[in-house]
Amino acid sequence: MPLSQEATSDVPTLPGTHSGIPTFLLEKARKAKEGVFDTRTKPTKERQRLPVVPLGIERDEFMKALKELGEQLGEEHVEINDKPLVDGWYMEHPNTHDMMTILDEEELVASAVVYPSSTEEVQAIVLWANKYRVPIFPISMGRNLGYGGAAPRVRGSVTIDLGRRMSAILDINPEDYTCLLEPGVSFYALYEALQARGYSHMWIDTPDLGGGSVVGNTVDRGVGYTPYGDHWAAHSGLEVVLPTGEVIRTGMGALPGNNTWQTFPYGFGPYSDGIFSQSNFGIVTKMGMTLMPNPGGYESFMYTFPHEADLAPLIDIIRPLRIGNILENVAQLRHVTQAIAALGQPRSDFFPGGDDDGGALSDDVVHAAATKHLAVGDHTWAYYGMSYGPDHIRKHKLALVDAEFRKIPGAKKVDPATLPADDYYFARDRIAAGIPDIHELRWVNWTPNGAHVAFSPVSPIRGTDATALFKLGKDTHDKYGIDFFPAFCVGLREMHLIVEIVFDRADPERRKAAMDCLREMVDKAARLGYGEYRTHLVLMDQVAGTYSWGGGAIMKFNERIKDALDPNGILAPGRCGIWPERYRGRGWEMGSGEDGGGVRGGGWWGG
Ligand code: ADP
Repeated sequence: MPLSQEATSDVPTLPGTHSGIPTFLLEKARKAKEGVFDTRTKPTKERQRLPVVPLGIERDEFMKALKELGEQLGEEHVEINDKPLVDGWYMEHPNTHDMMTILDEEELVASAVVYPSSTEEVQAIVLWANKYRVPIFPISMGRNLGYGGAAPRVRGSVTIDLGRRMSAILDINPEDYTCLLEPGVSFYALYEALQARGYSHMWIDTPDLGGGSVVGNTVDRGVGYTPYGDHWAAHSGLEVVLPTGEVIRTGMGALPGNNTWQTFPYGFGPYSDGIFSQSNFGIVTKMGMTLMPNPGGYESFMYTFPHEADLAPLIDIIRPLRIGNILENVAQLRHVTQAIAALGQPRSDFFPGGDDDGGALSDDVVHAAATKHLAVGDHTWAYYGMSYGPDHIRKHKLALVDAEFRKIPGAKKVDPATLPADDYYFARDRIAAGIPDIHELRWVNWTPNGAHVAFSPVSPIRGTDATALFKLGKDTHDKYGIDFFPAFCVGLREMHLIVEIVFDRADPERRKAAMDCLREMVDKAARLGYGEYRTHLVLMDQVAGTYSWGGGAIMKFNERIKDALDPNGILAPGRCGIWPERYRGRGWEMGSGEDGGGVRGGGWWGG
């Protein structure tokens, strides 16, 4: 079969494309692309598709409405989604659908994609959506992979791709260590801008992959791995277009002529920023972000621990070190299965004689693979950390960590000099120093057509909680025959267990297994008092439903805000489980036990 154009085109680079890769990562990205297409068996359809029209509007009327919008934005900035759905890959991702779909790929699709160039044009789109009652769904970069990608929650929504034409770095202030960004600025682009301007005294904070936008990641409360890793906590000031078209600036931005918008996040009065994160209350068109001072030195460290049962005592050792800031960044404890997957080879490579029995990897296979393939050798848990500051300060902190970690029998400090240059350790090292990477993509090659979706409950930093969540995850994965990739990420006073399920998105049975496994884990975790910090579009109703204290008091509050701010219910209906009045109770919600019926809506409101 000849290779398709999507497989052979070169990787787009910065600054030519706002979503491109920096040239220092180009070779690595090319290799990553090869890996993705080597394991892809899913064909790209070539048939023209009929565009999905949002429910409640006649096709002809919708086409006329789009034409009217084209007259305002320029017709080349309004694209009807009637072409074959092309999945692409991380660096050439689609904005029409979820390239890592867990439902049939036609379920969560946009009817059209529009490209505003300014806050005023975003306002015009919002007014247009109100006029025709069209659901709209804003994305910044659309690389929210594992959480729905670029897909809208309501089928046939018009996606507002903010990033393509609004990707300016409006300001970098080298004295205050702040910046002001439009939605299309990726972590890659911000890093490159600091380098280009010679600002080595400032660091950015980046997630595992740097291709997402700073704005999109921050409003979805994503995290990174330097001491500035809580992106929401690190932002200062928003400009937001409300669902009825007005624009507000939050914090000090509300004071005309202020010069503290990016340095004092609160302003005066209620702190309104919170309602614009993980919500559907507004479209963020500008965001202030703080930058970390270069700490004057840094040093990664890695320890391995031999046994599964080391988890509980280790987490109890980590807690005071983390709260006391001896462990200064998000503390990561990863299971050995992840190190194996991060080699970037398909799982079938690890079965002796190719003897894959179809179930989850057994402990024997895992440890045999670790012994044979990992430079650090066999182990069960690996801790990746970073110490910041000049030599003498690091020495003191690292000695404390060493004394504590060695209380676990068999603990081993890894000497980086023994590792190959492309070892995963070095990717963690760069990311914890604010240097974006693309290495993390490797484990997606675990299955053909690899896609991933996350289970990410929050718990106290306690051995008993870690053990309970580990067991819950492992038992449920075993039940559905899914390999288990747990990582504990310790924030400051809480930890997230992050479990990425990697599945073949071209295989309906594996998609269903992944979904069933997730739904079961969410419910079981909630019964034990653990809630998700973030979730995929299709799980949002279920997860929101677990936050049910006081008879669902928080959702009633959210719904009141939604109805007040968005009376026509046009902005991202259903995102984070918040449905506007027009949609509520009409079959849109997707909870556990249902099979995707809530994508299209069961009932109709007429007129
Ligand atoms: P990334 O920039 O990391 O690729 P996305 O652009 O996909 O992430 O954004 C993640 C999610 O956050 C989107 O699905 C969308 O619901 C929401 N979002 C992103 N950007 C904005 C924005 N500027 N205003 C409001 N919501 C946004």
